[in-house]
Amino acid sequence: STAAVTAEMVDDVARKHFPPCMLNLYERLKRDHHLKHFGRLQLGLFLKGIGLPLEEAVVFWRRMYGSTMTDDKFNKEYRYNIRHSYGQEGRRANYPPKSCTQILTSNQPGTQDSHGCPFRHFSPENLQSFLLSTYPQLERGSPDMRDIMDSVKSSHYHVACTRVFEITHNVKRGEGLGNSESVSHPNKWTDRSRELEK
Ligand code: SF4
Repeated sequence: STAAVTAEMVDDVARKHFPPCMLNLYERLKRDHHLKHFGRLQLGLFLKGIGLPLEEAVVFWRRMYGSTMTDDKFNKEYRYNIRHSYGQEGRRANYPPKSCTQILTSNQPGTQDSHGCPFRHFSPENLQSFLLSTYPQLERGSPDMRDIMDSVKSSHYHVACTRVFEITHNVKRGEGLGNSESVSHPNKWTDRSRELEK
């Protein structure tokens, strides 16, 4: 399985190995130094799943909020929530990272939110600009782009996501994450992507 990730490494791992939903959340966090509750939860549990230990998660989030937040506010309001999502507070439940199905169907994002799945929750125009600006392998009007947008139109979001994985990882069409497995969990995208890099 994959090696642990430090706060320092997140930026590099994000650019190379985050699926679209998490890359979007991470870019928003970098830009705004802020994420709303469900966005923090979706990204936070995902980061736990890729191997970011609790102490490194605290360093990561403190850094991302930057000077927009005092240490005092961070310690009072955010540190607890991070520890909670790692099962170190409250009921000490071990919350697993969210699967695609959970992300697609629960806590529908409002217009101010950044959580969710870009394939499902962005307008077609926004999805297309997001994909074009994120992945240099994709071109406007190309057969690949048309394929992806057609899958989205017929609500086959995981098919669209799997196709983006294949194109951005130079993987044969239909091969998916390996043995024709399609994307069903953001953490599986990242695990496979890191494996392919080796
Ligand atoms: Fe993320 Fe899953 Fe949507 Fe891909 S299909 S962007 S991994 S939620």
